[in-house]
Amino acid sequence: MTTSITPPAMAKSDSKGNSSHKLVIVSNRLPVVLKQLPDQQWTVEPGSGGLVTALAPVLRDRGGTWVGWPGTSDRDVQNTNEVLRKQHEGFGYSLEPVQLNQSEIENYYKGFSNETLWPLFHDLIDHCQFKPEYWEAYQQVNRKFAEAVKKVISKDDFIWIHDYHLIGTISYLREMGVHNKVGFFLHIPFPSTDIFTRLPWRKQLLESLLEYDLVGFQSARDRRNFITSVRTLVDKPKIEGKGQLINMIRDSGSVRVGVFPISIDYNEFANLARSQEIESQAWYLHEHFPEQKIILGVDRLDYTKGIPERLHAYKEVLTKFPELRGKVCLVQVVVPSRRDIHKYDDLKIEIDRLVSEINGAFSYAGWLPIQYMYQSLSRSDLVAYYRSAEVALVTPLKDGMNLVAKEYCASNIEGTGVLILSEFAGTVAQMKVGAILVNPHDTVALAEAIVMALEMDQKERRSRMRKLRRNVRGYDIFWWVDSFMKSAFSKDLGNFPLTADYAPLAEGS
Ligand code: UDP
Repeated sequence: MTTSITPPAMAKSDSKGNSSHKLVIVSNRLPVVLKQLPDQQWTVEPGSGGLVTALAPVLRDRGGTWVGWPGTSDRDVQNTNEVLRKQHEGFGYSLEPVQLNQSEIENYYKGFSNETLWPLFHDLIDHCQFKPEYWEAYQQVNRKFAEAVKKVISKDDFIWIHDYHLIGTISYLREMGVHNKVGFFLHIPFPSTDIFTRLPWRKQLLESLLEYDLVGFQSARDRRNFITSVRTLVDKPKIEGKGQLINMIRDSGSVRVGVFPISIDYNEFANLARSQEIESQAWYLHEHFPEQKIILGVDRLDYTKGIPERLHAYKEVLTKFPELRGKVCLVQVVVPSRRDIHKYDDLKIEIDRLVSEINGAFSYAGWLPIQYMYQSLSRSDLVAYYRSAEVALVTPLKDGMNLVAKEYCASNIEGTGVLILSEFAGTVAQMKVGAILVNPHDTVALAEAIVMALEMDQKERRSRMRKLRRNVRGYDIFWWVDSFMKSAFSKDLGNFPLTADYAPLAEGS
């Protein structure tokens, strides 16, 4: 049984005095992580990952309800609901926990979400499991989420469903007679039709996506892939408009489809980076890495992030450019994630092996080529590294967006850092002006990019970082939420700001 945790009054006005609808956010996970201590007590920690980082401050500001799974099994329901209630008193928004049983966790979460859709949507077909029992559980849990949403909404609320775990929730909501406006945002890439068609349940997912009022993608590339799949597998809708937001019109109704690259709270990172606390931490880091340039990698443990490929490229740098030994250090942070999925265990073993191979081969007294941290850093430690690193390596094999790239730029207040960015990160559309672009599969090119970044003169570094910072500042998380909401409600397809995909900010803006 689920328990609603008391919501305060919601309708708020924005800075221009326009009243906003109460917002109901629906995502697989609630924005908290519950952990059980050895003495059986539960503790609550803030969640990590892009979605939580992006949405928690916005919902706190507007008020509303967040519907999601607390991350525990339904055996713990009584205790965990109590802990959640305590944690959220005074937060300004309520939580509606959706409890999952062990079999749902195995088949819907680890199974269909993370062993089917996640690898498929990241083009990694060899990692995919297509099991009917996973699909069954996915539908069952999507229905469960729809029931939880129905319980907390009123007539005019705007429902905003997030990500690949919950694509089908809309179909159950409509079946239950919910006529509210419902938007959906896909945080991960949408694959090309060639890849998407491998999914046995491809048509059902597309039909669900077409039931939303608004569907948002991270990039124009993802939206193009979606439209091509609809045309290939469903029917040929009429398309109205050609900018950030278009209308797909079919006999059965229409859906708005937009491009909304997610972002960060620029000011939060920039202000923290300027603080006395980070100043001291950055000074400590410079002392700790004397005469060395820091090359930084920050990633969740995931096979989409290209960590082994990056380590191979770094090894190539140290092999081909021996004069750089002792003058650089790769600081690689790997945040533990999905360790109970087999492929992630294999990846961890591979990373450990490569790090020890490189450190074993190249270190000498007083110098370690790689400082490897397998842990989640505090926000201030992370920003201290962002501020201090001469080079950031953001080289995923494929990524919906990549917030680390944006956080690095926002925190790089001296303006002299260099961003090396994968061509396959969603953020490339916005950051191609300023970053050094690489194909992460090309070890030689990646090694050359690292050397180019290390040797780049101050003038060029500053000019590139200025463009990057301007872009992240202009298109921050508040812009993202605003443009998604406006796209859901505006009468006119062109009546909201353009995305960076279409209109990179001009010099001086
Ligand atoms: N992050 C964190 N602690 C760390 C390292 C990273 O909280 O030790 C955060 C980071 O600030 C960023 C998020 O994890 O907001 C990663 O988001 P991204 O979009 O880069 O990748 P995702 O993990 O969502 O695939």
